[in-house]
Amino acid sequence: MTSKKFLYNWLLLLAAFIFLSWNQASDKWISEKYESYNLHYTTCDTVLIREYKDYTETGIKTVENFFRNNFPQNFELFIHPNRESLDKQWQTDWNMPDFKSECWMVASGVNTKLDILVPYTWDSLACEHSSKNKIKIQRIFTHELVHVYHGQHNISPDFSNTMGIDWFIEGLATFVSGQCDNKRILEVKDAIVNGNSPTNLDSFWKGNLRYGQSGTMLMFISSNWKQEKLFELLQYNTKSEILKSLGTKEDELIKQWLSFMQNFNANSL
Ligand SMILES: [Zn+2]
Repeated sequence: MTSKKFLYNWLLLLAAFIFLSWNQASDKWISEKYESYNLHYTTCDTVLIREYKDYTETGIKTVENFFRNNFPQNFELFIHPNRESLDKQWQTDWNMPDFKSECWMVASGVNTKLDILVPYTWDSLACEHSSKNKIKIQRIFTHELVHVYHGQHNISPDFSNTMGIDWFIEGLATFVSGQCDNKRILEVKDAIVNGNSPTNLDSFWKGNLRYGQSGTMLMFISSNWKQEKLFELLQYNTKSEILKSLGTKEDELIKQWLSFMQNFNANSL
């Protein structure tokens, strides 16, 4: 081996070593403490972390303004660098070692924590979500923060012990986060005109229109019973308790929602 070749090989080895060390470092988790939450992210997301922190803090303000109260407890926020990391977290949290998330699943929230796949990867690692639409990204952060706030007030803080309230949990997060937009409202109105609206509360959180259906049901409750009623309903973990508190029956509630939707002018939003 000539000395020139030796030097070349040595430099190559050094470059490989630097690359491997950098790569390992990119997987390292960093934790930062803030007023109502602890933020966890990996070194590879350092560049955009301020943007994600802004989404979180705007979301916290929206939730606290809506409920006219602060988050009662601090929570953990994990920004996952890839789907493997998110799946690994959910496998542990949900005690489902073989769980593999669907491509549309990008985040979750319960009383103590919010997990989210880092948004800039959504174009390649997710479906139905864009990494470029900042309004929609903000609404997803806010949606999950509503789940965190809701969990902190619910008898079942991680929603594992609930009966028939998916429509309420998801509808509340959709409504408060602003995901119940004009487009979704018009889709639900169309389905009603075509006779395709849900006939029981369980079906509200089913199918392609689940966000619009559940979100407009919460919009109706908020409008008919006033916002304070929603604060009271946060604690209940069964459909029957929610209906009892509203003083109505399931079929009556759906009938009233239908008439509210038929008369609702989506352009007034
Ligand atoms: Zn949700």
